[in-house]
Amino acid sequence: MDATVGIPPAVTEETRPFWDAAAEGRLVVEGCSSCGARSFPPRGMCRSCRGRSMEPVEITGPGRVYSLTVNHQRWLPGLEVPYAVVLVEFPGHPGVRVVGRLRGCPPEEAAIGMEVGIGFEPGPGGFAIPSFVAVEGGEPSAREGEA
Ligand SMILES: [Zn+2]
Repeated sequence: MDATVGIPPAVTEETRPFWDAAAEGRLVVEGCSSCGARSFPPRGMCRSCRGRSMEPVEITGPGRVYSLTVNHQRWLPGLEVPYAVVLVEFPGHPGVRVVGRLRGCPPEEAAIGMEVGIGFEPGPGGFAIPSFVAVEGGEPSAREGEA
């Protein structure tokens, strides 16, 4: 079974901007200042042109579920199971896929292609861990400029 969540964060030179932004509730990926390609997870090198001039680029929702799995294993005490873990891609940001727990709907209602917003949850060691929130009826209700 894949252990896609619960991996203790490894803070390195490459991932620090990600965790710093996560602590503020923002999702950032790497953007290449040479060719503009986006990369996630951060690795300090462009996957497209192999340039090393990467800068943080903030991503806002909603994203779309690209694939999903439902976890039934209680690998931490007090963990509510089952829950869905989704791999999410973002329109306009090819190359970026972010994994996280899905909240806001029962796991059996998780579906490929469904629209999700970005959220963060407290994780191990005080880190904010990315997770995703089901968007009711697919409406882009949580965009900026909300009244
Ligand atoms: Zn590049």
